Amino acid sequence: MNPFTLFIVLYVGSALIGTLVLWLWHDRQDRLSFEIHRRRKAFHCVRCGFLYSLRKHDVSKGEPCPECGYKNYELSF
Ligand SMILES: [Zn+2]
Repeated sequence: MNPFTLFIVLYVGSALIGTLVLWLWHDRQDRLSFEIHRRRKAFHCVRCGFLYSLRKHDVSKGEPCPECGYKNYELSF
């Protein structure tokens, strides 16, 4: 194989591998940032009307409203 051809193959191959690694890393970071927002639930306080959000594992405890302290629970249908 011509040394110039080998150089071109290695040059293009390393660029493709670098692009693939960067693409996979960015996809993973994007998925992690989406999961943080997806795991929150929005609440509307029935006493004062304040809107706030909680992480999913705090929902069953009935976290108090930051404005008036009234405990709002998740609605089940
Ligand atoms: Zn409230």
